[in-house]
Amino acid sequence: MPRHLRFWLIGVLGFCLVLGSSLGLGWPMFSTVQSPPPLSGLVQAGQPPTATLSFLGPTQFRGKTVAQVKVPAGQKVIALTFDDGPWGTSTTEVLAILAQHEVKATFFWIGAHLQRYPEVAKQVVKAGHAVGNHTWNHTYKPVTEEIAIKEIENTSFLIAKTTKVQTRLFRPPGGILNNGLVAYATKKNYTTLMWSVDPHDSAPKGTSEDIIKRVLAQAKPGGIILLHDGGGDRQATIKALPAMITKLKAKGYSFVTIPELLRLGGGTPKPSPTPLASPVPSPTPSLAPDLPKPKPAPTTPPEPPPAEPAVTPVPQAPPTTPAVQPIPLPSPSPQP
Ligand SMILES: [Zn+2]
Repeated sequence: MPRHLRFWLIGVLGFCLVLGSSLGLGWPMFSTVQSPPPLSGLVQAGQPPTATLSFLGPTQFRGKTVAQVKVPAGQKVIALTFDDGPWGTSTTEVLAILAQHEVKATFFWIGAHLQRYPEVAKQVVKAGHAVGNHTWNHTYKPVTEEIAIKEIENTSFLIAKTTKVQTRLFRPPGGILNNGLVAYATKKNYTTLMWSVDPHDSAPKGTSEDIIKRVLAQAKPGGIILLHDGGGDRQATIKALPAMITKLKAKGYSFVTIPELLRLGGGTPKPSPTPLASPVPSPTPSLAPDLPKPKPAPTTPPEPPPAEPAVTPVPQAPPTTPAVQPIPLPSPSPQP
C-alpha cells in the first residue's frame, strides 16, 4: 500500500472512532465506564416491595445504641444473639439446638459470609429467627463514610436479596463504637445492638463449661447474650448451648429475639457501654477463617442516674434513602 494512502486510511479510521464515541455509539474502547447497577430498591425504599419480613425495631430505638433493655417487671426475658455467620455446619447445628428447645434468636450476618452460605441464611429466616447486619468485611479499622456505606448497605442489600428480609439492626464488629461504622448506622437510623452478657465464647481455649458459667453469672432480664455461630470453630458454643438454654429456662427466663426485646422495652433504651478508646488495629479480617475479636466493651452498662426524669422518646424520621451503589463483591474465602 502506498505510504500516503496508509496515512489517509489511519486518519479516516481515527476520525470515525472519535465521532462514534462522541455520539455514544458504544464502541467499547470509547464508551464511558459502566457504573455498577443501582440497588434494586430493596435498600432504597423504606419498605422493599419483595421483603416479606422487616426487622426495624421500634421507633424510639432507631439511631440508638442498646446493650440491654429495661423490660417491665416480671418479664424475665433474655435474647440470644449469634455473630459472624451464616456459616456452614456450625450454623445448622445451632439452628437444630434452637429448634429442639423452641428458642428464637437473632443472627448478625457478615455480608461476605452470607455470599458463601445463602442457603444456610434462608434456613435461619425460615426457622423464624431475627436477622441483623454485621458489616461486609468485619472491619475494625477506622472507615470513611463511603466505606461505611459499602460495609453496611451492601450487607443489608444482600440480606434482602437472599432472604427477603429488611433489617435495620446493626452490630458493630468487635463492639467498636468509634471507627465510623456506628456513626453511619446511627445517622441512617439503624439500631446498634451491643450486649450485656459476654461469655467469651470465641476465646481460643474456652470450654463450654466456662461459657455456661459466665452466661449464668451475667444474665439479667432484658439482657443480650453475645455468642458466635460463624467465623471459626464454634464447637465450644455449640456444646454449651443446650445446657445454657436449659439452665436459663430453669431460672425462669424465656427467650426473645432482638425485635421482640426492643418492643418489650418500649420506653427508654439503656445507655450502651463506654466506647473503646481506640479501634484495635488488625489486618483486614474479612475472609479469614477465624475472625479475631478485640476485647469488647465492658459487659455491664452503667445504670442511668436514678434522678433522671423519664424521657419521652422523640419519634425518629424514617430511614432516609441511601444513594449507594453495590461495591464489587469480594471473592469467597476457603472453607473453614
Ligand atoms: Zn463479629
